[in-house]
Amino acid sequence: MQVIKSNKTQFEYDIQAILKSFYPEWEPRMLAPDSEVRDRRILEGEPVMELFFGEDEVTLELFCEAAHKEKTKGLRNGIFATEEDEKEKKHSYIWQPQEAAGTPEYKNAFKRFFYQSLCEETGTTLPWGNLTGIRPTKIAMTMMEQGKSEAETADYLKTTHLVSAEKTELALDIAKREREILSTLHYEDGYSLYLGIPFCPTTCLYCSFTSYPISAWKKRVGEYLHALEKEIAATAELFRDKILDTVYIGGGTPTSLSAEELARLLTKLKSAFDFSSVQEFTVEAGRADSITEEKLRVLLENGVTRISVNPQTMKQETLDLIGRRHTVEQVEEAFQLARKVGFTNINMDIILGLPGETAADVAHTIEAIKALSPDALTVHSLAVKRASKLGKWIEEHGATAYNNTEEIMEIAARGAADMEMVPYYLYRQKNMSGNFENVGYSKRDKYGIYNILINEEKQTIAALGAGSITKGVFPDDRIERCENVKDVAQYIERIDEMIERKRLLIK
Ligand code: SF4
Repeated sequence: MQVIKSNKTQFEYDIQAILKSFYPEWEPRMLAPDSEVRDRRILEGEPVMELFFGEDEVTLELFCEAAHKEKTKGLRNGIFATEEDEKEKKHSYIWQPQEAAGTPEYKNAFKRFFYQSLCEETGTTLPWGNLTGIRPTKIAMTMMEQGKSEAETADYLKTTHLVSAEKTELALDIAKREREILSTLHYEDGYSLYLGIPFCPTTCLYCSFTSYPISAWKKRVGEYLHALEKEIAATAELFRDKILDTVYIGGGTPTSLSAEELARLLTKLKSAFDFSSVQEFTVEAGRADSITEEKLRVLLENGVTRISVNPQTMKQETLDLIGRRHTVEQVEEAFQLARKVGFTNINMDIILGLPGETAADVAHTIEAIKALSPDALTVHSLAVKRASKLGKWIEEHGATAYNNTEEIMEIAARGAADMEMVPYYLYRQKNMSGNFENVGYSKRDKYGIYNILINEEKQTIAALGAGSITKGVFPDDRIERCENVKDVAQYIERIDEMIERKRLLIK
């Protein structure tokens, strides 16, 4: 834990988020006179920065780089700091605001000052500048919808949030494409549907989703499907006056279910909902070790239009390390099987910044994917959640064991362009390697519409299954959520309560 001392708690979230963008492995906490301290380590920890909001100026003292080096490399080969070192550790920055305190302009100007001070401290800049917690494409889309020109939108991203020229161009490009793709959807009269199957063949090292090894739940899958069917029937009733635009079955790995279980689920789904207006029906086949010809045929026969076969990497050592428990050859075979069965829209997911992977490894993965020629490629930048097995792995092996760089991002972007794909959605997560973004690339007529909807929050998404979150988007721009419990046994037991939660949100 890294302590931030301040005389006020204002901008606490932004300060912590920007600091974490520079030091992803940190867990910064603010200590101010009015802070509610629940963890005594905050009182005892050495501060990495001190912030003082005065009448006419704000002073910032940063010890970040010294603290970071101590943590990652040890103190100058084990020799403790002398008095001279102490002086070198501290860097002071002063800001004299021109904006009135309490205004959005003041907050934005403070964020620029704080971000630029950290740039100087670390000798680096971030691709998305000081943007935290806001989706860049949502800013661009909203400004365009308000009638702002492209130049005005670009200027806002660059000057207010210090976003790089390349990322500004990417955000604008995607926002324009998203608007075009979503133009055929029913925003107010329509909705989309998500179903979560929380089982996988094994648990990946980096997993932060609701997922349990199928082997441990084999005997209760029937009960899970029974509860899900109950939720399907109730949700269909709730939405019977609305138009269903897209359907997405994810998880977990839906193809962890047997062919018979998949057939049972899809039959129920199609009999409960009106599929006549559905523009896209996706199933995340995901793990190659869960895919069989029989299951693929069940999906196709039940109208699934789009699937994902996700390698994450085509380097066997990394697959072994991250616990995927399948081979590169299995990925290739699963993909070719899906083509043979008749799927004409297949996405592949990869992750950049995986432990130990170099630019050459990513270039190899891209070449192997190009040889398969998928219809879409989703490029994730590794996000490390502390609770994941990967979080613990990094604690043991050090933060430098995983890395994503501009060069690596460029290799993936070039690979997508070589396959005649364009970027069509983008989102950022906390704790991303290199502080980059996740980008969905696709051939022009093979976009994953649901992926845009979940990020841009333009339409209600009814979500069913353990761990799923329903998002209600209302005509007055209100967005409300209700969650289903993550635990499978609890979900089965409390299914009526899950249904009631959804009913209250929607009605
Ligand atoms: S396949 Fe996806 S959901 Fe399943 S364990 Fe791996 S990361 Fe988690």
